[in-house]
Amino acid sequence: MAKVDEQLKKIRNEVVNCQQCYLFKTRILPVIGQGSHQAKIVFIGEAPGSNEDKTGIPFCGQSGNILTELLNSIEIKREDVYICNILKCRPPNNRNPQTEEIEACVSYLERQIKIIKPKIVGTLGNYATSYILKKYDLGDQVKGISQIHGKVFEFGTMKIIPLYHPAVAAYNANMKSILKKDFQILKKYNEK
Ligand code: URA
Repeated sequence: MAKVDEQLKKIRNEVVNCQQCYLFKTRILPVIGQGSHQAKIVFIGEAPGSNEDKTGIPFCGQSGNILTELLNSIEIKREDVYICNILKCRPPNNRNPQTEEIEACVSYLERQIKIIKPKIVGTLGNYATSYILKKYDLGDQVKGISQIHGKVFEFGTMKIIPLYHPAVAAYNANMKSILKKDFQILKKYNEK
């Protein structure tokens, strides 16, 4: 097995057995990540919802369908990117992640990013965006997603592109066109 696959498998095993916060008691399945281990783009959402909790697959419900549509719009296959979340376990009733849960969980995400070494990180929504910008020394750039979506931040050779969370486009065609426009930026940097 290739080293990257082995390292990601180790994370998977650790998350399956994780008891670092109480969410393991209420979730059904952990949602670790899905996609190519050689991905040039990693997408990071907030936390699993109820569909994800049942299947263990990130973004497999309505938001996921929108994410897939956005990827199709830039001719990138879902299986060629890697998709994961800040939290690996669903918070009960989809409540917001709590600080202690984020603190307990993010080392898995940070290791996933280090192992995959993506060229681009697309952060989906406010939670993922503010966490990732702070993590990569860009904390002074944190603003609401409506102000920084589609901007490109750099950490070494890695580009960080904040995006609206796909859920915002579920009932709002305007938001979908904004997201589509921002995905064009992602496409451009992916091809560079
Ligand atoms: N919303 C997220 O932020 N992540 C998922 O996996 C699903 C919905």
